[in-house]
Amino acid sequence: MKVRQRTWGSLEQCSFPTQISSLLPSNKNRSSLVHTLARSLGLFSRDFSPTRTVALVPPQSAGFAELNSYHTKEYLDFVLDPKSVDSGNVSTKTEFGLEDDCPPFEGMADYVRLVGGASLTAVKMLRQPRCELAICWDGGRHHAQKAQAAGFCYVADCTLALMALRRLTQPTPSPETGPTRKMRTMYLDLDLHFSDGVSHAFHQTSVGTGSPHLLTLSIHHAAPGFFPSSPLAALPLPSNDPFTLSLPLRPGASNSTFARAWQCVERVHAAFDPDYVVVQCGVDGLAGDPCAIFNWSLGPGEGSLGWCVARVVNEWRGKKILLGGGGYDSPNAARAWAYLTSVALGHPLSLDTEIPDHAHFPAYAPSFSLDVPAGNMQDQNSADYLDLVDAAFDAGVAAIADRMK
Ligand SMILES: [Zn+2]
Repeated sequence: MKVRQRTWGSLEQCSFPTQISSLLPSNKNRSSLVHTLARSLGLFSRDFSPTRTVALVPPQSAGFAELNSYHTKEYLDFVLDPKSVDSGNVSTKTEFGLEDDCPPFEGMADYVRLVGGASLTAVKMLRQPRCELAICWDGGRHHAQKAQAAGFCYVADCTLALMALRRLTQPTPSPETGPTRKMRTMYLDLDLHFSDGVSHAFHQTSVGTGSPHLLTLSIHHAAPGFFPSSPLAALPLPSNDPFTLSLPLRPGASNSTFARAWQCVERVHAAFDPDYVVVQCGVDGLAGDPCAIFNWSLGPGEGSLGWCVARVVNEWRGKKILLGGGGYDSPNAARAWAYLTSVALGHPLSLDTEIPDHAHFPAYAPSFSLDVPAGNMQDQNSADYLDLVDAAFDAGVAAIADRMK
């Protein structure tokens, strides 16, 4: 008998939230493309998937107290005050990171409340017994800090969601989890850039202290001068916190490199055995993105973005949240997140699917298909380098297994 799983998407039905999330200066109008493409492909239709049901849930804007569970009061007082956009003084804007790639913008207060609240809405949905997975493609702002905007990110929705998950009640005891086990949450970040905001929020500076019930793992590009600069963005060292993991890849990373790197992800997952998994599905590593660093394809082959997300959705136990992130070719971001929505629904679309005629149809020229294929960039991740990655993860995986006994 097939189990009908319920997949909740916090993809709003009314246009107001999309208009707000479309204001993000680094990704103007992207949210609108994402939601209209998903809708035009029929992904929200009740009969789209034979096995899973989708429900659209309007996101609830976050209140001050919810945002203040991570962000400082001073940061929120400034960023939530509409007057700060025009009249806030320059040194205060600098203090809060509201300059350069994070300029204050009209609608910023509503945006912060909405995107923070959308990811928290996804967490709330997971409380429903029949809800197995929640999606928030406007979330995934993984660079925002406690008291600073950074890297196009004004609200730390990933961190807020992980903190909210930690506050959820324990899962019902079962033969699978045992009666006394504390809930474990794994955060997996697939964005081109290191998840510095999230990793720093939960990093334990003294190895062996703190709660080993939340693990972060970021697969990304790292190189001198490449944003963000962080000592945590390197390969794991035996002396480091094994619950804050980083897997840096070199330029040109292709499906075959991701397929190899995925073996490390599976080893970490097996050792940690999480009850909840939050995946940041940033798509700026896909071929064709203006960042032009990786050469990753959307799917469906082994190691592709779609293949990786399908492993999490279909093969890992527990409840999941899928978040968005980077992605600076808006039509490709819309293609990718529409395809990943179909993967999450257990009914992957063919990548040959033609883009339906809808309001943003001309943006999908010249292919007018769903695919985001790889280009011809050379993959600089040699077999020797990937052996080094494997070896670096040996100690980390052993340390996790030891702590989880
Ligand atoms: Zn990114």
